[in-house]
Amino acid sequence: MISLEEAQRIVRDGCSPRRPVEVLLRDALGCVLAQDVVAHEAIPPFANSSMDGYALISADTTKAPVHLRVTGEIPAGTVATDRVLDGQAMRIMTGAPMPLGADAVVMVEETSIDGSDVVIETVARPGQFVRNVGDDVAIGDTVLRSGTVLRPAHLGVLAALGEQRVLVFPKIVIGILSSGDELVEDGSPLAPGQIREANKELLMALVERTNATPLNLGLVRDTEEELEAAFMDALGRCDALVTSGGVSMGDYDLVKATLDRLGEMQWMQIAIQPAKPFAFGLLGDGEEKMPVFGLPGNPVSSMVSFELIARPAIKKMMGHTELDRTLVSAIADTPLRRRAGDGKINWQRVVAQFASDGRLHVASTGAQGSHQLANSASANGLVRLEDGPGVEPGDEVGVLLLD
Ligand code: AMP
Ligand code: MG
Repeated sequence: MISLEEAQRIVRDGCSPRRPVEVLLRDALGCVLAQDVVAHEAIPPFANSSMDGYALISADTTKAPVHLRVTGEIPAGTVATDRVLDGQAMRIMTGAPMPLGADAVVMVEETSIDGSDVVIETVARPGQFVRNVGDDVAIGDTVLRSGTVLRPAHLGVLAALGEQRVLVFPKIVIGILSSGDELVEDGSPLAPGQIREANKELLMALVERTNATPLNLGLVRDTEEELEAAFMDALGRCDALVTSGGVSMGDYDLVKATLDRLGEMQWMQIAIQPAKPFAFGLLGDGEEKMPVFGLPGNPVSSMVSFELIARPAIKKMMGHTELDRTLVSAIADTPLRRRAGDGKINWQRVVAQFASDGRLHVASTGAQGSHQLANSASANGLVRLEDGPGVEPGDEVGVLLLD
């Protein structure tokens, strides 16, 4: 057996980021920025009002209430041609450019109308309710750094800077296929010995959550010919391939045998429970080979090995540098027991939530068998249990938060 860290390193080293591409902002959410973004325009580009009200000279209001003559109106999107002079004010709307001469805005709620005058009821501070040129972004500022994972607000900032497209590491296409003669995927009645296929839906959803694009490559029977055809098909259509099943010690575990024949393959026995077997292969002869992540077939094992091993490598291919989830500390509310002495790290499925003590608490989702996906379905965390008896209620544990 090799350690989890060693397995993660081998898999990551075999995966490299794809070449950056320019995409529309709308296609960039969740992608990693591949350039620094420098502002060629200021935000805001001109001094403007942050309130609907009156633009005026603040010194005119020291004896408020005062009457000022209204000499114009400035809606957003227009520029006043006249200057504001002593004793004058202009009606101004939020976002409209400040007229020359004025140095403050009084909000409309603190005014009243008296014929063609406005009565200013409060004393204005110089600069109040004025947003200055560049007070968010100045020309020449580096607004976003290469490596930033783009969130909705980043896209808003890019739009505000006038950027239409942005250079990012592209979303990659991940083919998903499952293997096993016993599997049924079309909803037809189960014949004796058959079970329903579960992993494709699970893995496609997990891929979607990494911001990659899943491609369903179907269900493949346990023959080397079918597996080879499926791998070759994937090679032309995917950046990486995730398979489930066929990597254990059984006589029909042909994923690893087929991969071994077709490409560079590393077969691992990892010191974790669940998800001990894992196959990692590189297929193709181009300069960018296609990584193949061969996950074990038991659905919980598939899920855990995707989380711990495939997901960080997929993130690397999409330009991320923070690859692993952070192990955070939590209090166990239920016993989390395990078999001691197998030399493996246990990853138990838990529901994690913050409690009124301000701490994160975890509770077991129930039975932890690697075929018992229903018992793990509500889990939003994986607790790491070192070799030993496990933990009792009140003990502190490390947990990876999955959402
Ligand atoms: P394998 O890794 O192929 O030896 O499969 C291990 C166990 O997982 C067996 O009990 C399989 O029937 C089951 N299994 C494999 N693939 C799937 C799948 N796609 N959906 C549900 N169960 C599966
Ligand atoms: Mg199988």
